[in-house]
Amino acid sequence: SFMMDGKFLDNDIEKIVDADRAHVWHHLTQHKPFETGEPRIILEGKDMRVWDQKGKEYVDAVSGGVWTVNVGYGRERIANAVRDQLVKLPYFAGSAGSIPGALFSEKLISKMPGLTRVYYTNSGSEANEKAFKMVRQIAHKRYGGKKHKILYRDRDYHGTTIATLSAGGQDERSAQYGPYVPGFVRVPHCLEYRAQWDLSGEEYGIAAANAIEEVILAEGPDTVGALCLEPITAGGGVIVPPEGYWPRVQEICEKYDILLHIDEVVCGVGRTGTWFGYQHYGVKPDFVTMAKGVASGYAAIACCVTSERVFELFKDDASDPLNYFRDISTFGGCTAGPAAALENMAIIEEENLLDNCNAMGAYMLDQLHALKDKHAVIGDVRGKGLFLGAELVADRSSKEPVDEKQAQAVVGDCGAQGVIIGVTNRSIPGFNNTLCYSPALIATKDDIDQIIEATDKALTKVFG
Ligand code: PMP
Repeated sequence: SFMMDGKFLDNDIEKIVDADRAHVWHHLTQHKPFETGEPRIILEGKDMRVWDQKGKEYVDAVSGGVWTVNVGYGRERIANAVRDQLVKLPYFAGSAGSIPGALFSEKLISKMPGLTRVYYTNSGSEANEKAFKMVRQIAHKRYGGKKHKILYRDRDYHGTTIATLSAGGQDERSAQYGPYVPGFVRVPHCLEYRAQWDLSGEEYGIAAANAIEEVILAEGPDTVGALCLEPITAGGGVIVPPEGYWPRVQEICEKYDILLHIDEVVCGVGRTGTWFGYQHYGVKPDFVTMAKGVASGYAAIACCVTSERVFELFKDDASDPLNYFRDISTFGGCTAGPAAALENMAIIEEENLLDNCNAMGAYMLDQLHALKDKHAVIGDVRGKGLFLGAELVADRSSKEPVDEKQAQAVVGDCGAQGVIIGVTNRSIPGFNNTLCYSPALIATKDDIDQIIEATDKALTKVFG
């Protein structure tokens, strides 16, 4: 550890902090407080733990902040595979392929029955835009441009670009960035805890899916090209779909010839205890996009995976020189991504991390339920695998969310105790109230006990 070696102690670390404060524009940050406070700089990580510039150790219950480092820190075999590949060939783009690109696509497809093609790019937002562009091009090729609308769901998030924000269901994220791209249409959410109708269980699930059909009928089915959904909504509140929801969604897509695009940027590659979130629900998507867990953050890689049916559509009219998918991502030609992704998947297989994710996820869900029994401020607990949330409410019967500052105080107090947890983006516009947990798939009972204990203490401190 470089803290132990003392390499970055004393004035070196001060220089780094000064450079950061002077020149780095941090993501998701109001910088005014930084002028007097000190930015947190993470120096090093190993397994489930990271160390900051003060030498303070943290249990990372959020896999690098945003559900990414699925196999944990310090994986030398990923670093070595990337190093070897970079020395051999770092990059070549355009229409050429690469050894790791070919091998990873084969491995990935082996986990995704019914899908056949992998399109490489570098971020979740971009992977989603690739699918949007494919949908739009299919509309032009087959339907005179008419079947071009893309439906997205309230509370879901698909990225940070203007087009993906136009497909974003969290208004507080997009409010200041309009005008938006036309042709994106919102459908209602499926959070049973805050059901829009007086229904529960499977009846609620079917009603939430039927609400999508109502939008399709209002827009005109011949104008709707695709439906884009997260399998389990992440930043919008850790929303696990209700019973009955997905089969009905699939049925609706088939009925109106609408392509189904599943955004697995968070759930993909093991997070929920299956390779992909949609695989819990027997869904047959046409597009699956993924990013974060694909190489656990060891390299920037994202994929838009499609069915052969979609791929075939881009081969017709081959004599027309404009008729293929006219898209490129410069860094889709980086070989570090698929080289890291291959090792990442091999680790998950060899260490049986999906089994661990299921076992530890079930344990953690039980522990969160026990916290709910103890703390009235927890209104609802939900999740799948090691992807869990606890929604905080000021009052259980009205379900009035807690003040956003109180939720932040819980996160802050856990941090002071050496446990990094998250809070989802506003589950109800104007509030920020779902505590979020996504430890690495290697988590042990001891790790989870520490995370739960810190949360327990923080809740007592903030809410009594
Ligand atoms: N989709 C979902 C479900 C996400 O959570 C995110 C990122 N939080 C994205 C897409 C966008 O990914 P990226 O930040 O890599 O562009």
